[in-house]
Amino acid sequence: MDHFLYRDGALYAEDVPVAEIAAAVGTPFYVYSTATLQRHFRLFDEALEGLDHLVCYAMKAASNQAILKTLAQVGAGMDVVSQGEYLRAKAAGVPGDKIVFSGVGKTAEEIRVALSGGIRQFNVESEPEMDVINAVAQELGVIAPITVRVNPDVDAKTHAKIATGKSENKFGIPISRASAVYAHAAALPGLDVIGIDVHIGSQLTELEPFEKAYQKVAELTEQLRSEGHNIRRLDLGGGLGIPYTRSNDAPPLPVEYGALIKKTLGHLGCEIEIEPGRLIAGNAGLLISKVIYVKSGEDRDFLIIDGAMNDLIRPAMYEAHHDIVPVTEPAAGVESQPYDIVGPVCESGDTFAKQREMAPLAADDLIAFRSAGAYGAVMASEYNSRPLIPEVLVHGDQFAVIRARPSFDEMINRDSIPEWL
Ligand SMILES: *Cc1c(COP(=O)(O)O)cnc(C)c1O
Repeated sequence: MDHFLYRDGALYAEDVPVAEIAAAVGTPFYVYSTATLQRHFRLFDEALEGLDHLVCYAMKAASNQAILKTLAQVGAGMDVVSQGEYLRAKAAGVPGDKIVFSGVGKTAEEIRVALSGGIRQFNVESEPEMDVINAVAQELGVIAPITVRVNPDVDAKTHAKIATGKSENKFGIPISRASAVYAHAAALPGLDVIGIDVHIGSQLTELEPFEKAYQKVAELTEQLRSEGHNIRRLDLGGGLGIPYTRSNDAPPLPVEYGALIKKTLGHLGCEIEIEPGRLIAGNAGLLISKVIYVKSGEDRDFLIIDGAMNDLIRPAMYEAHHDIVPVTEPAAGVESQPYDIVGPVCESGDTFAKQREMAPLAADDLIAFRSAGAYGAVMASEYNSRPLIPEVLVHGDQFAVIRARPSFDEMINRDSIPEWL
């Protein structure tokens, strides 16, 4: 459920008409709902009720400071994958003991910054990384809490670009080598080995791959404990999928996911951490765009819109589907027609949808891409010298620009000219 609904024929974000925001900030832009973000966080928090737990929002999904603050205020921890994300979490007021550092390529500098500023734990992905964390911790005279990310070799049954839990993926250490790697970690004086981490992929639409992975984590917990390791925290990653269409089968609900966690791991007495990103932000955001032209081709009509692949790359990168709806609700009984919906960028890949059935649209009409809150604005670029588009946050009947559109001068003046020119 989200908070983007039609009222009297107009699309609203909570209590604000989307067309009103468009008039104020211009198109294209992203708009997020505070109520939806918080609702999604609470669904996870409630799903783990009864377990000692922390929900760490994976901010790579949508990392605007206002979004982070909105989630931090209701108690979210943060999962970060770079120094920039770590500093964003701190700037949003998240205490270090609620920040988890993931990622395969943490540099010594990133580790130093996190250890100095406070960190809940590092999720370690290799032995060389483990050695560097140990060295930096010793240099700073602190002990670094770590888990080791294990790769359970489970097929997440998702798009190849976002599957991470198979042995051919770059992530984690093979679960078969866990014993040796944990023994290595335990011998390093700068580390406190507190648990196990796993994350098998994103946009999972079934519970079965989670179940397989978590069963392996349960077995590994018992095994490592029998080898003398004090395993007391399990980080189960993110990955729960969201419904991108209204028509197909909905993915499992957070409450079902929580029940699975309790069933597979509840008996171990560990603190449980999860790192959802997409499910918290995805359906909490829309991309709003305007029709520039309706162009009739030989065998099809194109809607050429002012949003493009540089603003929302998911369709080009992952063959992703987004529901696209008009901001003015079509009158009942209006016959739809198929459109190819494309942006102005000079690439055929700049196509959002082919032969999409829509009520007839004309130049200047506004459309909304649903489920655009996660992996949307964060993956945007200025390709074709199209300035990054603004982000807007709605809260009840208020809205605020939370990242302004740069002017063309700002964009151009970011470059500098060498003196020989
Ligand atoms: C991307 C990622 C997440 C979040 O995944 P979602 O599918 O957005 O929930 C969590 N943990 C790690 C380690 C990730 O890389």
